[in-house]
Amino acid sequence: MIYQQKGVMIRQASYSESSRIITVLTEDGSQVPLMSRGFNKPKSPFIVLRQGIKEALFTYNRFKGIGTLNEVDVIQPFKKVNGDFTVYTYGSYIMELITRALEEDMKQDSFYRLLIRSFGLLEAESEPAGVTAFTAIKMLPYYGGQINVDECAVCKTRDRSLFTHYSFSHHSVICSRCADEETVRRAVPVSNRVLYLAGYMKHVPIDNVESVNISKENGRLLLSFIEMIYDEYTGVYFKSRRLIKSMEDAGQ
Ligand SMILES: [Zn+2]
Repeated sequence: MIYQQKGVMIRQASYSESSRIITVLTEDGSQVPLMSRGFNKPKSPFIVLRQGIKEALFTYNRFKGIGTLNEVDVIQPFKKVNGDFTVYTYGSYIMELITRALEEDMKQDSFYRLLIRSFGLLEAESEPAGVTAFTAIKMLPYYGGQINVDECAVCKTRDRSLFTHYSFSHHSVICSRCADEETVRRAVPVSNRVLYLAGYMKHVPIDNVESVNISKENGRLLLSFIEMIYDEYTGVYFKSRRLIKSMEDAGQ
């Protein structure tokens, strides 16, 4: 049967000298393995897949198992993401956040929408660490984690302007009135702005985010906060995170 679907290539492996087997995350959220004959040849019709991350229209034959790729037409080349090393590194992090949670034979069209939305935000020059944090917040439940930034664990106030800490014993925010020696024992101070952003990103529908216009500093603080949540609740570590860290240490 012939299929034509939007998708993003998420993996590739050499099959022979000239061919590769690629895996495409399709718009309906499934993973499709495709034999791409002649992938490595100089005049390959799949040359557009060799570099960078792109959204494309994939035409392929498939009955069961591995299909055969016939044609690729790029829909979104994500030129800015693919052309800037720093932004691309955040893009790889986003890719890892989404693809690591994929399971065989599971369709998650929201993963695809999140991937395309996040890359669109990077392309539109939204703050890259902030966009990555947005992706990480949306993916957190799929790694078994959660973040509670809506009400103080102790007094239940929902007045966001009062939140000052995130407690790992209460698994929630704590407000300035309730922060004492006892409640902050397993808590970290987190800026009010960062907690507000985390709450906003948790609740906003994926398709409603048009831009992430925050300062570079807040973007990084927000991402560090979410990474702390991942460390505490998920035990999953992303390779791209180390790369971002070394980039930051180098002052980029
Ligand atoms: Zn309180």
